[in-house]
Amino acid sequence: MAELRILIWYRTDLRLHDHEPLHQALKHQSRVIPVYCFDPRQFGQTSFGFPKTGSFRAQFLLESVANLRQSLRSLGSDLIVRQGKPEQVIPNLVQPLDIAAVYYHTELTSEEQTVEAALQAALAPLGVSVKRFWGHTLYHPDDLPFEIQRIPEVFTNFRKQVEKQSTVNPMFPTPRSLQSLPPEVAVGDIPQLTDLGLESPTLDDRAVLRFQGGETAGRDRVEHYIWQADKLRVYKETRNGMVGADYSSKFSPWLALGCLSPRYVYEQVQHYEDQRIRNDSTYWLIFELLWRDYFRLICAKHGNQIFYPSGLQGIPIPWKQDWQRFDLWRKGRTGFPLVDANMREIAATGFMSNRGRQNVASFLTKNLGIDWRMGAEWFESLLIDYDVCSNWGNWNYTAGVGNDARGFRFFNILKQARDYDPQGAYVKLWLPELTNVPSSKVHEPWKLQPVEQKRFGVQIGVDYPNPIVDLFKSAEANEKLYNAAIGRNPKPKR
Ligand SMILES: Cc1cc2nc3c(=O)[nH]c(=O)nc-3n(C[C@H](O)[C@H](O)[C@H](O)COP(=O)(O)OP(=O)(O)OC[C@H]3O[C@@H](n4cnc5c(N)ncnc54)[C@H](O)[C@@H]3O)c2cc1C
Repeated sequence: MAELRILIWYRTDLRLHDHEPLHQALKHQSRVIPVYCFDPRQFGQTSFGFPKTGSFRAQFLLESVANLRQSLRSLGSDLIVRQGKPEQVIPNLVQPLDIAAVYYHTELTSEEQTVEAALQAALAPLGVSVKRFWGHTLYHPDDLPFEIQRIPEVFTNFRKQVEKQSTVNPMFPTPRSLQSLPPEVAVGDIPQLTDLGLESPTLDDRAVLRFQGGETAGRDRVEHYIWQADKLRVYKETRNGMVGADYSSKFSPWLALGCLSPRYVYEQVQHYEDQRIRNDSTYWLIFELLWRDYFRLICAKHGNQIFYPSGLQGIPIPWKQDWQRFDLWRKGRTGFPLVDANMREIAATGFMSNRGRQNVASFLTKNLGIDWRMGAEWFESLLIDYDVCSNWGNWNYTAGVGNDARGFRFFNILKQARDYDPQGAYVKLWLPELTNVPSSKVHEPWKLQPVEQKRFGVQIGVDYPNPIVDLFKSAEANEKLYNAAIGRNPKPKR
């Protein structure tokens, strides 16, 4: 009997552990043919003209693909790598490799689904069957207490029901060995950054971490954070930090590219609870993974609405596309040190803490009244951990047009700065011009008297900008716009 050959189309699931397509294909005693395509569309531009995949994430992706290839090789197989559109590359492999079926993890958002549809259309005339799997979340939709179309619009309602009624499935086993690839086609080289039209990012030594792509490095990070540094026990207390590698898990880039399965993290947390301690912190890490699930499921429920300026709630806020102020925001020149430090961090490293993301997103939308999609695309371009559902879902939420919207809520940047950066250590790290300003004054540099400016070696308005808006007046003005928009849509979709 001729052997069955199943092509595994790798996408944002760059791992061997807990990989259902791989597992199911192997159940049929088939020979698996793992393939990764560098899709040129992923290296184009966003609608506002930013590089769709900036060099930080591209570098992480290249490392992740290289690591996957290495792992597959160590099991006896390999990874076929191509640059091109999957709907063209994969059908071209069908005939020379005698492929019977293509298995992959499905994605939910429009660009990814368009590619899936095009691939299916191209494979159908070739008689190749396609099998799609759900594999990015902690909970499988089949195990939820509701249909996707009935997912609650308020996270807490979702969480409580899921925690009470659903269980997390065990991981799929990791294969121990694989058959070699047939010699009919070349495996292909992994491109360099320059092949993707990008330059190598320079590593800023203030970066929270040197994020190394791949399943191996992802597991190492879990090992370090949970076990060696033993930081999980204090996660809830430290998670709002902004300086250093271990205030939070930093698992996000590996989760986003699927180098880590969320169920792997879940299992590790369970072991930790068995062996060391079970407390609010161990619970809270899983709580955050539930947020991640939630945004993905909400995307499945609402489809393209997540990308609309009026968001999931359909609130027609008259967002501004004020490029002058947007540029000041993205360059870290707003005059608000907490915002500026975070914007310089993301530009220099491709990462920003959750606390920072919430503050800068609130400032852009609630103080500057700027189209939140510009911010979301800027994040998409830069973030190493960019995940379409988490990014656009969180931006919806922070802009006040997403689920769980509780009216016009804005972050008081000054209070946030005092609460989360009381010594000014974070802002001084990223704003060297404020290094000598005492902690008590560093979050409001515009209040420095000329004599103080001289003493602390900074000229406000020259070395560091004056605030581009009045924090409270600007929020008030935008709140009026928000309330008027709600008035135009008195029954926002819930
Ligand atoms: C405007 C905005 C944009 C964001 N964009 C992204 C994005 O593109 N990709 C992304 O992974 N996260 C995004 N987040 C969520 C969150 O900021 C990051 O997941 C987190 O900062 C990553 O650091 P960590 O791994 O140390 O998180 P930890 O605090 O250690 O949390 C553990 C894991 O839980 C998940 N998680 C935590 N918070 C959230 C959240 N609010 N929403 C969804 N998942 C969460 C992540 O997978 C994270 O790795 C965004 C948040 C905001 C406010």
